[in-house]
Amino acid sequence: MIRLTAITRSFQDDGREVEVLRGVDLSVAPGEVVAVMGASGSGKSTLLAIAGALDAGFGGEAVVAGQSLRGLSAGALASLRNRSVGFVFQSFNLVPAFPALENVLLPGLLRQGRREPREALRERGLAALARVGLAAKAAARPSRLSGGERQRVAIARALLTRPVLLLADEPTGNLDAVTGESVIRLFGELAQEGTAVLVVTHEERVSRVASRVLTLSEGRLS
Ligand code: ADP
Ligand code: MG
Repeated sequence: MIRLTAITRSFQDDGREVEVLRGVDLSVAPGEVVAVMGASGSGKSTLLAIAGALDAGFGGEAVVAGQSLRGLSAGALASLRNRSVGFVFQSFNLVPAFPALENVLLPGLLRQGRREPREALRERGLAALARVGLAAKAAARPSRLSGGERQRVAIARALLTRPVLLLADEPTGNLDAVTGESVIRLFGELAQEGTAVLVVTHEERVSRVASRVLTLSEGRLS
């Protein structure tokens, strides 16, 4: 689902070129959970942005959901993301004014081209909420939900488009240990259903569900 080969990424800092990724190779197949650990600033989010077709300014080769990212237009990258990639973030990134279900439906509402009928979309949103154990909270706004429930809503949102690839950037960073572990376990279940999961985490217990636990250091994965 993802194949990254010899990925490099540099940023300009005060006119100086800082090489954050220095030749990263990484593949994640359907059904796998791959965990990436590493110190703050080691380039974990940079790597996820490349894997999620959010950043085109890298060197090397990236194939995501069967498509090489090289040379794709911004529109083609956006369409690939919308169809194939689900994103989960540390801070949940829910819209506070929207009930849980409306948050889950957002990727469907933002989809370009032929729109799914609203009722079918709603059914899929409810199914995604049920998948993460929150069928009863569809009408609740984020402020009425616990941290763990908010992250589950964000995961349901990421699942709405049935992505082949789920990317999570420190998804348990704002959760207590028990809740964090249940989120990690959920990733394991999603992988068993065929999703490829790439998760950046400091949660040591991720090794219980991960096929591989890798460390990013000095711009390389090992
Ligand atoms: P991590 O997620 O592991 O904490 P990041 O990938 O966010 O690390 O950042 C790695 C390094 O790259 C940091 O030094 C950060 O300042 C730098 N960096 C990330 N994105 C940019 C950017 N858009 N412009 C300049 N520097 C950046
Ligand atoms: Mg980060």
